[in-house]
Amino acid sequence: MPLLSVRGLEQRFGGLVALAGIDFDLEPAQALGLVGPNGSGKTTCINAICGLNRPTKGTVTLDGTPITGARPHQLARAGIGRTFQIPRPFRGMTVRDNLLVATSTRHPRGDVDPDELLERLGLARFGASEAGTLNATQQKLLDLARALMLRPRVLFIDELGAGLSPAELHSIAGLLNEIAAEGTSLVVVEHLLGFLEQVTPTVVVLNAGSSIFVGPLRDALRDPEVERVFLGT
Ligand code: ADP
Repeated sequence: MPLLSVRGLEQRFGGLVALAGIDFDLEPAQALGLVGPNGSGKTTCINAICGLNRPTKGTVTLDGTPITGARPHQLARAGIGRTFQIPRPFRGMTVRDNLLVATSTRHPRGDVDPDELLERLGLARFGASEAGTLNATQQKLLDLARALMLRPRVLFIDELGAGLSPAELHSIAGLLNEIAAEGTSLVVVEHLLGFLEQVTPTVVVLNAGSSIFVGPLRDALRDPEVERVFLGT
């Protein structure tokens, strides 16, 4: 049985059909890329699975248990975590306290040591700094650390790569590989395919709110429909 299973996920906003049918499975410790042109529904898909919006139709199951339409805090406890395209840390709070707030309610998979996590993400020297003083890359890492504090079973990562240097991308790809190898499944929304390739060989391609391809990235790039979507040919 897959760890996460998404079937026929649909999201309407009034008359606008933002998701018209998303289907994919995610195995334990698997990383999956979620790609597609701007407006194809990637963030809406994350929001629908992570409880920010209640999907209009379709099902999401975690370990066979339906979690469709559950609230974000329930999903966090169940093991669904996420990062945001634009992180919003508590800017006036220290970096370390930002992590502690993430676990203010005890969760079933045990506590994570914030200092170890900060060390791992290269943020240890900023532990006592106000989060608002971090640069954009460091704020993304803090957002990732906050998500990891909850020991997610599935972690959705929304556009982590944008604006990072090649060296930063390489080091974060290594970190994401480690996180997956430790058993956390990843869904990585990413425009930078070179970066994505370092994290996973497998992608779900979205177009106009539908998943049109699930499989190896290399095959996706040779698929005529995917090519049409990306190149507009
Ligand atoms: P992507 O992440 O692939 O760029 P989005 O998920 O942000 O795409 O957007 C998919 C579509 O859904 C777009 O047409 C967008 O305008 C629309 N959309 C997203 N969120 C909302 C919302 N809260 N209300 C209305 N329309 C929305």
